[in-house]
Amino acid sequence: MTSGYYLSKSKILSGWQCHKRLWLEVHDRDKARVSAATEHAFQVGHEVGEIARRVFPDGVLIGHDHSLHLALDETARRLAEPGPLTLFEATLSYEGVLVRTDVLIRDDVDNIRLIEVKASTRVKPVNYIDCAVQAWVLAGVGWHPARVELAHINNQFIYPGDGQYGGLFSFVDVTDRVSPMLEHVPRWLIEYRETLAGEMPSIRIGPHCRNPYECAFLEYCTPRQPDYPVRSLPGGGKIVWQLLEEGIEDIRDIPPDRLTSESQRRVRQVTARGRPELDPAAAKTLLVLPWPRYYFDFETVGFAVPVWEGTRPYQALPFQWSCHVQTENGELEHREWLAQGDGPPMRDCAITLIAALGESGPVFTYTSYEEIVLKRLAHMFPDLAPALESIIARLFDLYPVTRKHYYHPDMLGSWSIKAVLPTIAADMDYDSLGEIREGAAASDAFLEIMDPATDMTRRARLRKELIEYCAYDTLALVRLAAFLQGADTAAD
Ligand code: SF4
Repeated sequence: MTSGYYLSKSKILSGWQCHKRLWLEVHDRDKARVSAATEHAFQVGHEVGEIARRVFPDGVLIGHDHSLHLALDETARRLAEPGPLTLFEATLSYEGVLVRTDVLIRDDVDNIRLIEVKASTRVKPVNYIDCAVQAWVLAGVGWHPARVELAHINNQFIYPGDGQYGGLFSFVDVTDRVSPMLEHVPRWLIEYRETLAGEMPSIRIGPHCRNPYECAFLEYCTPRQPDYPVRSLPGGGKIVWQLLEEGIEDIRDIPPDRLTSESQRRVRQVTARGRPELDPAAAKTLLVLPWPRYYFDFETVGFAVPVWEGTRPYQALPFQWSCHVQTENGELEHREWLAQGDGPPMRDCAITLIAALGESGPVFTYTSYEEIVLKRLAHMFPDLAPALESIIARLFDLYPVTRKHYYHPDMLGSWSIKAVLPTIAADMDYDSLGEIREGAAASDAFLEIMDPATDMTRRARLRKELIEYCAYDTLALVRLAAFLQGADTAAD
């Protein structure tokens, strides 16, 4: 017999992360704000789960997504039939705990193999809890698993094409890690049901709010933020939570001797002074560089399950680039390329950028991301490698120069281009763009363009917005380089 609240596996995992999170999920769900990144992760997990089923061609899917009763009944009926079987989404319930297993295999001597599929590229500690709850329910209904496995994405897999996904997953036997946990499950259930039966637990925000998952109640639990929140100190770390515990919430209130990290001390100092800091050494570094100058940026897309032959899971694959070319007399020309979305874009991307970036002159980027993508393109297309490598040799990363020589209090501990830009070019604001204002949205837009179901009008609009967004990124680099050389003034 069940006493108290019904608990799904996901509720148990929420309780494991934070009792308050579990309580809010059950009693005040409307306060949740699910981030786009979390929604994206759900979607990826779903796609990976579907692909995993292809590895077991004889498997039977227990559908009934909208009727748990039907799913429970069908699972029970299939398990009651003798002989080997493979079930996807087998649905089981024991002592008020409901689980749906990704893959459940029973062999001809009734040994049960439980497989939990993950979209990540490695096993994480929380995955053992996940498996333990499922194994406990299975054991409770009389199917104690002989073997428990985690199937995670093998990031060394190279897709050979034609829907051949054998090798996409690494199967890790976690039976020895999970088995000792089973005896703890009843205690967890008592704890979580007591939590749910009581008042909302009083738990302050801390590192647990993002680990192992970003909590959807972070906004609700976060008290009103001061102008310069301690949480925005670069690198974060224990000191942030210690300061918050002591009631210090604003960077300006941190005693100078409390910080040991050089960059945190600098952020505190500049913020307390209330004026930006630009070291003239930045100008010295940049003024000696030759002309013409190129300002370059990629947009990329990555698939947990590769769709293009010769690519790996999560590989950053470029589908667009933008380049501003600047001559010594200040003339600016914009060049761009955006794939059609009807096939692998990488080779055309490489060919067009080689033509656009000329033979000489520094190629400015922000962070080493472009270098990584260029190196992968060179590896992918050996015939283009010499030209790509000569571009790599011309790269000049503005990020370390900015990080070393510039800080403005309004950057709130971040040197991302989106944090820096408003402080150096008040007339430029990513919020003035359409629906594409950051890289993840650009990637999503390209996936939508690739989708044959997207109509022509929507596709044309997304293409226009992608071009505007990527051009904005490289124009931001033009403005940043000018600022660092002393040609612009910071917006106080
Ligand atoms: S934000 Fe943090 S404290 Fe609040 S419910 Fe989530 S995990 Fe718990």
